[in-house]
Amino acid sequence: MKILLGAHVSIAGGLKNVCAHAKNTGSNAVQIFTKNQLQWSAKELDYNEISSFKKCVISQNLTVAVHLSYLVNLGSTDETIKEKSIGGIIDEIKRCGLLDIKYLVLHPGSNKYLSEEGTIKQIALNLSGIIKQTAELKDVILILETTAGQGNQIGYKLEHIARIIELAGNSERFGVCVDTCHIFAAGYDIRTLSEYNKFMKDFEDIIGFNKLKVIHLNDSLKPLGSKVDRHAQVGKGYIGMDAFGFIVNDKRLKDIPLIIETPGSDREHKIDLDILKNMTKK
Ligand SMILES: [Zn+2]
Ligand SMILES: [Zn+2]
Repeated sequence: MKILLGAHVSIAGGLKNVCAHAKNTGSNAVQIFTKNQLQWSAKELDYNEISSFKKCVISQNLTVAVHLSYLVNLGSTDETIKEKSIGGIIDEIKRCGLLDIKYLVLHPGSNKYLSEEGTIKQIALNLSGIIKQTAELKDVILILETTAGQGNQIGYKLEHIARIIELAGNSERFGVCVDTCHIFAAGYDIRTLSEYNKFMKDFEDIIGFNKLKVIHLNDSLKPLGSKVDRHAQVGKGYIGMDAFGFIVNDKRLKDIPLIIETPGSDREHKIDLDILKNMTKK
């Protein structure tokens, strides 16, 4: 089965590194930060950089996702953080628009002063404002990522994500990213085929497959239900290799970019990506 597979890569050396990385690793999918993920401000993308990036994405037939900065927190009720977070997302949606990237992955958010339902409402309220303010960039889909539930993070239950999307207006502008490490740390077991199929059925029943847009393939350094988000290389953590085999051979996922998010050089990424590719049945 042909799949969309790649890694999260650093663009420290500029956007041109993305295409070189994809070539070096034989990837047809990739995830990037378009700016330093630990800073609010970003330098403007330059015209030449944008046009050569778009050209190589087309010529290499790459599926690209952007991961939002970790500073953004849509669950916050602190006016300054809220304002910066909304501004940060809108800015990133514009950058995705300039780069013709349609997937923007983000973590839902947290708030230690509110109940879970209160935080969910706050996140949904902010998201509905954001999609209204970026109506002209309707091709950019905001992809809510499942979380491990560390701290007060929302998103460790599929019901949280479904509720956010429902409250924010159930728009076509929303999608979902399943991160294998996060769901496992959150308590969803996928280590056997029957557990995996149960998770997929829950996803279909609670959220719906039409919303599934990106999958992060990470193993977990922490055990099932630990609520701690520590990525391991595929097959090198508590999840183990079988689960990744179910995913790369699941026909329902053949058009969904599968992204590994472990640090490493192109050479190291290629080793992991080749292992995954070799597990796909012809
Ligand atoms: Zn992830
Ligand atoms: Zn993570």
